[in-house]
Amino acid sequence: MDGVFYFCTLISKIAIEVDMDINFSGKKVLLRVDFNVPLNKEDFSVTDTTRIVRALPTITHILEEGGSVILMSHLGRPMKKLKEDGSIDVEKFTLEHIQSTLTDLLQLDVKFCPETVGKQATEMAANLKRGQILLLENTRFNEGEKKGDVEFAKKLAQLADVYVNDAFGTAHRSHASTTTVANFFNEEEKTFGFLLENELKNAERVTNNPERPFVAIVGGAKVSDKMLLLDRLIDQVDTLIIGGGMAYTFMKAQGGQIGNSLCEEDRLELANELIKKARTKGVHLLLPTDSVIADNFSNEANTRIAPSNLIEEGWMGLDIGVYAQNEFANNIRNAKTILWNGPMGVFEMSNFANGTKLIAQAVAEATKNGGFSLIGGGDSVAAVNQMGLSKEVSYVSTGGGAMLELLEGKELPGVKAMNMGKVES
Ligand code: AMP
Repeated sequence: MDGVFYFCTLISKIAIEVDMDINFSGKKVLLRVDFNVPLNKEDFSVTDTTRIVRALPTITHILEEGGSVILMSHLGRPMKKLKEDGSIDVEKFTLEHIQSTLTDLLQLDVKFCPETVGKQATEMAANLKRGQILLLENTRFNEGEKKGDVEFAKKLAQLADVYVNDAFGTAHRSHASTTTVANFFNEEEKTFGFLLENELKNAERVTNNPERPFVAIVGGAKVSDKMLLLDRLIDQVDTLIIGGGMAYTFMKAQGGQIGNSLCEEDRLELANELIKKARTKGVHLLLPTDSVIADNFSNEANTRIAPSNLIEEGWMGLDIGVYAQNEFANNIRNAKTILWNGPMGVFEMSNFANGTKLIAQAVAEATKNGGFSLIGGGDSVAAVNQMGLSKEVSYVSTGGGAMLELLEGKELPGVKAMNMGKVES
């Protein structure tokens, strides 16, 4: 039980103020996790265990209390990548690929069931003893999963006494295993796992009465993806920093010359509306005054620094410039609440990673000074990890789309279903 002991230490670190109020002793627990992890293309071994590791505290807590765990998750998009004969590519998408990694991490035997629901799943679940773990086959092998099918969800629900949802990354989907299944359990029989609860609590620190000054940093490629987020943030923040590719749509909207930089022509009006709204609300809106521009979308391109609103044809802005880096960093360092979503430049290429790196360092510094920093999903998470700064910030979210929707003020279907009583039987 060394593995369990180790991860219980982890529970106490991760699960600050989080408590699952169900006593799992003697209970069979249907636990939805997000094991949608990257796999090696040749031997299908797990190449990044982060998502599995983040689910361990909940698994070990249930086992420690004397429950048994029936794990379910999706992996990839098997229905979109069927074999030529129209059948599911089981060899590629089976959840069995996760079994050995999970066994190693927990140092416990993990049984695998080659179906999600059905005779064998029912039998294996029924025979499960206290402290044992069963991993079901990929939920997306079933047509009903993505449709949120009631019959499929019912079969899942019948496998267990209790339902726990710890899959934050899919909580914004109305799928059978993330949402519909919860309708078969009453309030005393369902709960969030430590990870999901933590994600919600950390998001709340940003959305609900944040400590001020509150600075949001939004970057990445497209304005259209983050339109709702920007609109909502203007209602809440003291300072809004916009960087990355999306900044050039704002530059052009303001009459700037942006050369071949990324631009969404159909969002120019919207960009101006957001600028106007920020002005009306007294929000300090910062765009990158200068940019690192390149004559090609390549790490080998010729580069120079230019004002972001005076970029010649044939050149494109691929990172924020030195002046912008300093201006952004100065505003971030003294913040008491920070939300960061999206990189400041094409950080995947070393010549355009400096802006993102400096911003990550400023966020880490603000955190050290007592600020709360949330890295809210997507590529900013990859950037913080790449820069080795994930431990220097307050919280790194595991869910891109789910965190974005939460920050946009939407109620996640997977969360809503947990907060309701039993509606199916
Ligand atoms: P998102 O998923 O919207 O957060 O976008 C992340 C992507 O935006 C990353 O792959 C970055 O390389 C890309 N990106 C950031 N800045 C720029 C830029 N100035 N031009 C083109 N792409 C960018």
